[in-house]
Amino acid sequence: MKPDIHPEYLDTTIKCACGNVLEAGSTKPNIRVEICSKCHPFFTGKQKLVDTAGRIERFRKKYEKFKNNE
Ligand SMILES: [Zn+2]
Repeated sequence: MKPDIHPEYLDTTIKCACGNVLEAGSTKPNIRVEICSKCHPFFTGKQKLVDTAGRIERFRKKYEKFKNNE
């Protein structure tokens, strides 16, 4: 981050819940978003997973094992 640029127009880092970081200019220093163009279902065509993605993957693996044991 640059500390001494225009005082009313900051270099903003927009952090998304999916881990994606976007650089933008804004009057707010830091922005956190739940969804961005990278993980939004409209752009990805996938279901909204966001912060539960890891858990869902694990669940899926468990479930596959469970199915195979039957
Ligand atoms: Zn995102």
